Amino acid sequence: MPQLTIQKVRAILTAPAGINLIVVKVETSEPGLYGLGCATFAYREKAVKSIIEDYFDPLLHGRDPADIEDIWQIMNNNSYWRNGPVTNNAVSGVDMALWDIKGKLAGMPLYELMGGRSRGAVAVYRHADGKTLEEVGDNVQKFHEDGVQHIRIQWGGYGGKAGALHQSESVPHGVYYDPKQYMRDTLKLFDYIRDRMGFEIELLHDTHERLQAIDAVNLAKELEPFQLFFLEDILSPEQGEWFRMVRCQCATPIANGELYNNPKEWDYLIKERLIDFIRVHISQIGGITPARKLAIFCEAFGIRTAWHGPGDVSPVGHAANIHLDLVCPNFGIQEWSGFKDASLEVFPGCPELRKGFVYANSRPGLGIDINEELAARYPCKTEATRWTQTRIPDGTANTP
Ligand code: MG
Repeated sequence: MPQLTIQKVRAILTAPAGINLIVVKVETSEPGLYGLGCATFAYREKAVKSIIEDYFDPLLHGRDPADIEDIWQIMNNNSYWRNGPVTNNAVSGVDMALWDIKGKLAGMPLYELMGGRSRGAVAVYRHADGKTLEEVGDNVQKFHEDGVQHIRIQWGGYGGKAGALHQSESVPHGVYYDPKQYMRDTLKLFDYIRDRMGFEIELLHDTHERLQAIDAVNLAKELEPFQLFFLEDILSPEQGEWFRMVRCQCATPIANGELYNNPKEWDYLIKERLIDFIRVHISQIGGITPARKLAIFCEAFGIRTAWHGPGDVSPVGHAANIHLDLVCPNFGIQEWSGFKDASLEVFPGCPELRKGFVYANSRPGLGIDINEELAARYPCKTEATRWTQTRIPDGTANTP
């Protein structure tokens, strides 16, 4: 084969499940040989698309797609300022696509290329929510009957049900929650679910960084008797130093990191063993290349992976998560949000869930494709994001 080169780097925007997704397609000089990657930053999709097409396409034209590490370094440093979420997502889209191409050239699924499987399938956790305790319990029971062993429980969404808020006469528009009410309700929720389901089932919970730091310490302590599999994102990237206090006071397992962009946000947490699970959003840190390095770094310190796997990751990104999960010996658990029918049609080759485990297919590369004609039927919407305009009862804007 003549020297293979990158010919075109472009972004495909689609929203088959009503959530903006960004997929990068890297086309090569070999007809029909291309790679796909996830660059999904659902709330800034046009900014990511511009980096991919206005900056990375000319930067990468004519390069050898085999040079993944070199291309990653060039993309990361090319704008001089680095480690921001918009650029990182664009870098990730190209990085995953290059791994996809490498797998296709080798005729191997990515998990083979990265060293082979450490396990046959990937254990996942599902998300059970509800307006009442009974409704959450019923949803937990349904998942458990489907063979799911790990279930994240929330009562009334992140930050809890708002209830009757004690407010001043004039409060700004926003999505309100009451952190103290949420803490009390969460303890009631765990009491109810443990009472109903026993201790055989693994329970998780996501605080979504919605508490003051000292309240987060308190919640981790108060939840200790309920033996969580992990407590997720109790502290924001800005308040990570407080994990030392959590560690001194309880043994509730801690998972953190879906907002991290920069290695300096996680390196001390790992070196000091302040968390138990790293759960970064892989496109948000720049793709498979940095995620593999991060997993190996964590392995040395006894910390497991729990990559972020919400609806605002494309099926291509979910496939990347699953390939990494299959390989890394220190895999812990995978968040799994499932696919709607429209997503399964747009993205043939999605990983499959059966009885609490997700299976990758054995096709070369990421094993997933995109039907661009179908994808075009589900255009993205650009609008001011509402759910992130969160406020506490006195009207103060707070982290979502
Ligand atoms: Mg979360």
